[in-house]
Amino acid sequence: MKGKAGGNNKPYAIVLTAFLADRLIERLLRKISNPLVPVISMEADEREWFDASGPDCFDAARAIIERLEDLPETVRLSGNTEDILLARMYSRERDLIADYDPRKPAMVGYRVLGGQLGDACETAHALFRRGFLNRTFFDRLHVCPQCRSSALNVREECCKCRSPQIGEETVVHHFPCGFEAVEGEFRQTADGLYCPKCSQLLRHIGLDYDKPGSAIVCKSCGAVDDSTAVGFVCMHCRSRHDAGRMPVQDWYSYQLTPAGLQALLGGGTDPRKPDVETDHFKVLLQQAIRHEAAFGTPFQVLKGVYDPAEDFRSHSLRLAEQSEHLVSDVLRSALRPVDTVAPCENGMLILLTHMSEADAQKVISEIDHRMAEVVLHDPGLRFHILSRSECEQIAGET
Ligand SMILES: [Zn+2]
Ligand SMILES: [Zn+2]
Ligand SMILES: [Zn+2]
Repeated sequence: MKGKAGGNNKPYAIVLTAFLADRLIERLLRKISNPLVPVISMEADEREWFDASGPDCFDAARAIIERLEDLPETVRLSGNTEDILLARMYSRERDLIADYDPRKPAMVGYRVLGGQLGDACETAHALFRRGFLNRTFFDRLHVCPQCRSSALNVREECCKCRSPQIGEETVVHHFPCGFEAVEGEFRQTADGLYCPKCSQLLRHIGLDYDKPGSAIVCKSCGAVDDSTAVGFVCMHCRSRHDAGRMPVQDWYSYQLTPAGLQALLGGGTDPRKPDVETDHFKVLLQQAIRHEAAFGTPFQVLKGVYDPAEDFRSHSLRLAEQSEHLVSDVLRSALRPVDTVAPCENGMLILLTHMSEADAQKVISEIDHRMAEVVLHDPGLRFHILSRSECEQIAGET
């Protein structure tokens, strides 16, 4: 490994001249704690740590350093994961492309991150929400509810005892006595099959017996069934789960948007800046406050908060996602097209323009009523009307 050239503020590269084990590289990078520095290997090495390897690796490192030098110092030295992510994309001139990576528990990774920033899903999603990244769907993976790993074996199981030791057997129907069972229950002899109920030999298929289909036989408990269950076994924590209770995670690839590039070159994403959505909400709320003062047209703001005791996400992610979709369906049907919904900490805000407090109360009852009808698993979302001072506080926040 070659040392750094110049002070901490100047870009430099880490060059490995010989093979190093993963855990040593990990330790080295942690020590350097500069997640933007190019890492190259003079020996051909395909591992994710390296921006380039082999004879041309110096050219790649030089190109990365030049692009890092384009970035303002506030970004180059930023400890904010959003800045780091965008700066890596920019300096490597690569999108955040999701790909399968069986060495990771999540089974998906982003090569451009070079093993930095963990799986970075939350960070990328936050940047997408703020308009700094575009995204395209990559894949949906099941996730172990116990340890969050996606290294899972999906298997067919016996519906009764959940053993994967199952087989398909032909079903035999004996016409004279009406007995029907899987072939293994008939006594097998050199002459043919003997019926266990009437002890007769089965002679002519189609005349005294037939084979109407097949059944699933469990070699573990002996159960005979016409279908199987699907089960998941986690390769990391060895837990077994039924298919219906498996959470899923959607993975995306991301591309830098002009707004993302502008933020990056302008000094960073500044995580304190509000979302576009909440900004829009604030403008409308300020307008509603002004209209009320000038024309006496009342407005109301509802705040919906998820009950933390419900914590329905921990039961099943899929159930939670379904519930969230249903909640937005309910809101769309209970609200007027002119009403505005914006996300807030652990819930949402709804601006109802031209509405009295009594009518807002009716809207809440309507939402509660429809919610109980439509959403099977109560997500614990409860609405209340905000006071004027609370509204003014939201409108005034910067
Ligand atoms: Zn029989
Ligand atoms: Zn069984
Ligand atoms: Zn697990």
